[in-house]
Amino acid sequence: MEPVKRRRVSADPFVVYPNKGTTCYIGVVLQMLSAAGCTAYVPAELAEYLRTGRGNCADIFNRVVKPHQQHLRGVHGDPHEAFLAIVDACAGLERRFGGSLSSVVHCLEHRGALDLPRTVPFTALVTAISERKAASTGKLIVDFFAEEKLTGVDCSTCRKQVDASKLNTLVLESIAEYWPVYINRGETNAKCSQPVTLTTGFKLPYGAVFRLLAVVVHLGKHKDSGHYVCYRKHGGRWWRVDDGTATEASEVELDSEPVRTGASLLLYRRQ
Ligand SMILES: [Zn+2]
Repeated sequence: MEPVKRRRVSADPFVVYPNKGTTCYIGVVLQMLSAAGCTAYVPAELAEYLRTGRGNCADIFNRVVKPHQQHLRGVHGDPHEAFLAIVDACAGLERRFGGSLSSVVHCLEHRGALDLPRTVPFTALVTAISERKAASTGKLIVDFFAEEKLTGVDCSTCRKQVDASKLNTLVLESIAEYWPVYINRGETNAKCSQPVTLTTGFKLPYGAVFRLLAVVVHLGKHKDSGHYVCYRKHGGRWWRVDDGTATEASEVELDSEPVRTGASLLLYRRQ
């Protein structure tokens, strides 16, 4: 395959975050926060770094984020976890991402609800792909709200274990401006490289329209090694951000093999 020709620009179009060792997974998340205009909503030290890129992002991450580490399960180098940890650590970010779901489980035998609907907040929609079927991110999002079949659920009305269905619906007033979508490529170190087509826009049944703003891509065969880069839209154009370097990227590149097989965390913005 011919190498992608990149147009270098004399100055970076936005602030970039150089790699300070093994910090690419933090850099790509900060690039997402920058794309989402989050500087005003984070603690001063992190805001200063987002604005200037000066300093060591790992040190800042350790000081600002690590003390709130309920999402850092010791899996080093995962942008999804790093993103959740940053949102946890920065109270101002909570309402800018995701929303809330109303989740209810129905018994398929007596046709009634097992419990009252539960309201479950989410920061990122967590979707999973498998080797079996090709997918687009739009389809993954639709599937997230599809009925999910459960087996072996205790029903107090039927007094036995039953088949059930679970349905997640959105709490309308909770829909935030930015929607991160995480594509889980497996729970183990073996990465599921099933290609996924990036849907650049989708519409919720309630009318809200979302457009793709950024995507974090993992390059490499195993989840705990390799490298992360970020594609983000800026000034109406796409850019590929590789640590401290931003180069203009074409929309065609978003459909290239490395992006389709490594897309991991996407950020959509409500129009
Ligand atoms: Zn029942």
